[in-house]
Amino acid sequence: MIFEINKDQRIVVNASAGGVAIESSNLRERCPYCGSAYCYFSCDQSQHDDKQENEAEVKQRQLYNAAIDGLESLIIALVGVGVASEDKLRLAITEALDAIGNRF
Ligand SMILES: [Zn+2]
Repeated sequence: MIFEINKDQRIVVNASAGGVAIESSNLRERCPYCGSAYCYFSCDQSQHDDKQENEAEVKQRQLYNAAIDGLESLIIALVGVGVASEDKLRLAITEALDAIGNRF
């Protein structure tokens, strides 16, 4: 299942007999220096430059990405149990992303 949320946000969920998994997702915010969604002041450039992202912004990004982790876990669970149609699931994901975005 491919969920195109908008032109910048997309999540691909692979559901097979072996289970459900996130195949790809670009929902997480990324380090402006190295581009990794899992870099929180880990790359050399981010440690020596606060111009693009300072410590408070890193913390916000970390919290936002933790919320996305939770959302992706819920998506896996919902697809796994077949709770909703793909269209309704896409709508629910969009609304959840809006709700998460409004908190940050
Ligand atoms: Zn980085």
